Amino acid sequence: MAKPKVALYWNASCGGCEEAWVDLAEDILKVVEAVDIVLWPVAMDFKRKDIEAMEDGEIAVAFLNGAVRTSEQENWSKLLRRKAGVVIAFGSCAHIGGIPGLANFYSKDEVFDAAYGYLPTVDNPDKVEPQTSTKMPEGELELPKIWDRVCALDQVIDVDVDYYLPGCAPPPDLIMDAVTAILSGELPPKGSVLAPDKSLCDTCDRNESKPEKLQITELKRPHLTFMDPEKCFLAEGVLCMGPATRSGCGERCINANMPCRGCFGPTRDVKDQGAKFLSALASIIDINDDEAMDRVLDSLPDPAGLVYMYSLPTSLLRGRVPEKKREKAKVS
Ligand code: SF4
Ligand code: SF4
Repeated sequence: MAKPKVALYWNASCGGCEEAWVDLAEDILKVVEAVDIVLWPVAMDFKRKDIEAMEDGEIAVAFLNGAVRTSEQENWSKLLRRKAGVVIAFGSCAHIGGIPGLANFYSKDEVFDAAYGYLPTVDNPDKVEPQTSTKMPEGELELPKIWDRVCALDQVIDVDVDYYLPGCAPPPDLIMDAVTAILSGELPPKGSVLAPDKSLCDTCDRNESKPEKLQITELKRPHLTFMDPEKCFLAEGVLCMGPATRSGCGERCINANMPCRGCFGPTRDVKDQGAKFLSALASIIDINDDEAMDRVLDSLPDPAGLVYMYSLPTSLLRGRVPEKKREKAKVS
C-alpha cells in the first residue's frame, strides 16, 4: 500500500521547528518508515514545480512552521493548502504569530529603517533597501514582497488550518502524538490545538508553593534575582505567563528554573493571552499608592513585548498602529 505523503515547510522560521523533528531521535525512523516525505526544504532537495504538478489533496498532511510576512510565504502556504488534505500549523509562529510577530509593534518602514539604516552593525551608507525587481546585465532578479504585517498561518486568506501544534518548538511527545493520531485517523475535531486545554499553572509542580492569598509588591527580573527552584515565580515577584498559557510543554522552562514566556498560546476560551495575563497580574499586585505603582511599572522595560512575546499577531490588538496612520486617524 502506498504510504501517505507528507510535506514539511518553513515560512518565517528560525529553523528551531525543523530541529524539533530531529529531536524525535530514534522515533524519527518510525515517522520516515510510515510516511513518504515529498517536501522538506531544510533537509532534502524538492522543487516547487513538483508540488505544483501534484493533484489537489494528494498530500495527506502538510506541517507548516513559521509566521507569514512575504508574498513567497503566502504563495507557498496557499499552494500547500490546496495540495494537502490536512494542514497543521506547527509551532508558535504558525499557530499564534510567534517571536517574528513582535515586529507588528512597528511599521514596515520602521523595521526597514532599522534593518537597512541606523543599526550599529549595518554598513549601508546609501540606505539601499531590498527591491522586488532589479535589472542586471544577466537578467531581472526578483525578491518576494514584504507585507506590512506578520501573520499567523490561519490569518492568510484562503489558508484554512485544520490543527495547531503549539510550542517554540513543539515538544517531541506532542509531535509523536499528532503523527500517531494522523496515521490512525483518530484526530480530534477540526480546529483543535493538539495539546491539553488547561493552563500551565494547573500542571506546574510549583503551584503548591503559592500562598493562599497571593500578593506581590515588587517585580523582579530573572537575571537580577535569586530564583528558588521550588517556588512559584509569580509568588516571588518574577513574571511568569503560566496563568495565561496552555499546558503541554512538559514545563521545560520551569524545570530549567526559567519562568514561562507563553509559547503555547492561550487556552481555548481566552481571546487575548496578554490581556489575560495582565488581568491576573492586576489581581495580585498589592500596591495602593501611585508613586510606588509607577516605580513597579518602570521596573519592567518592555511590558507589551513581554506579555505578547508570542501572540501579538493573533491578539485583539494585532499590533501597534503605525505612527503615520495614527496621525491620519486623529485628523479625520
Ligand atoms: S516556533 Fe519557535 S522554534 Fe519554531 S520557528 Fe518559531 S521561533 Fe523558531
Ligand atoms: S505562575 Fe509559573 S511558576 Fe507559578 S504555578 Fe504558574 S506556571 Fe508555575
